[in-house]
Amino acid sequence: MTSWHIEQQGGNPYYMPQCEVCGLRYDEYGLYADKEQAATDAVDDGWQAWPDLYQTDWDCRCPQHWSVRCETCKRHVAQADRTEFNGWLFDRDDDDMRVGVCDQCLARMDTLPTLELGAWPIFHPSHQRIDKWQALKVLEEAAEVVEAAKESIRSVTVLDGRTLVNRARLVDEIADLLQTTTNLCAAFGINAAELKIANTECTIKNMKRGMFDEGLRTHMHREENA
Ligand SMILES: [Zn+2]
Ligand SMILES: [Zn+2]
Repeated sequence: MTSWHIEQQGGNPYYMPQCEVCGLRYDEYGLYADKEQAATDAVDDGWQAWPDLYQTDWDCRCPQHWSVRCETCKRHVAQADRTEFNGWLFDRDDDDMRVGVCDQCLARMDTLPTLELGAWPIFHPSHQRIDKWQALKVLEEAAEVVEAAKESIRSVTVLDGRTLVNRARLVDEIADLLQTTTNLCAAFGINAAELKIANTECTIKNMKRGMFDEGLRTHMHREENA
C-alpha cells in the first residue's frame, strides 16, 4: 500500500495521507497541495509520518497501525494501536517517529544505582562570566583530579587481603571540580530542570551503549598507553 492517495485537479497533483498498512485515508481536511502540511496535520491527529529513505517523501500510518522500535533495547513492534505506546517516550531530536524509548526501559532507568551529588552553592555573579576562562577553569580542575587520582593509585597497598587507597586529596579535587562545574552552569544560566532533561538524554544514550550492563571495558582506548 502506498502512503499517499493522489488526485489530479487542474493539472496539479493533490495529496491525502494514506495508511501504508490498511489504506485508511486521512480526510480530516480534504486534499492537500503540500505533502508536508498534510503529514503535519495527520501527525497532530495521532497518525505517524516519517521521512523516507531519501528524505524526499513521507511514509504514513494510521493511529491503529503505528510501527515503533525502542532505541535502547531494540524491541520492535511492527504494528499496533498507538495506545499501546502510551508509556513510551517520543518527541525527541529524532524526526523519525518510529523511534522511541519503551516503557520497560524507562522503568529500568528509575532502578539504576545512582550517586547523589547534592546541592552546590553558586559563586557570586561578579566572579562569573560567559567566556572561555569560565570554561577553562573546569578543565584546570579536571586536570587536578587526574593528578590526585594518579597519587591515589600510587598509594594502593594490600593489607591482610584488603586493598587500601588513600583518596583524601582526590575527594577534595572532585569537590573543586563540581564547584567549578556548578559555577559554569550558573554563568551560562543552565538550571536544574535543563540538567534533569540532559540527564535523561545522557542515560538513554548510555543505555544504548550497554553501559549499565556487564561487558567489556571497550571505550578506554588510552588504557594500554598509561
Ligand atoms: Zn492503518
Ligand atoms: Zn526498551
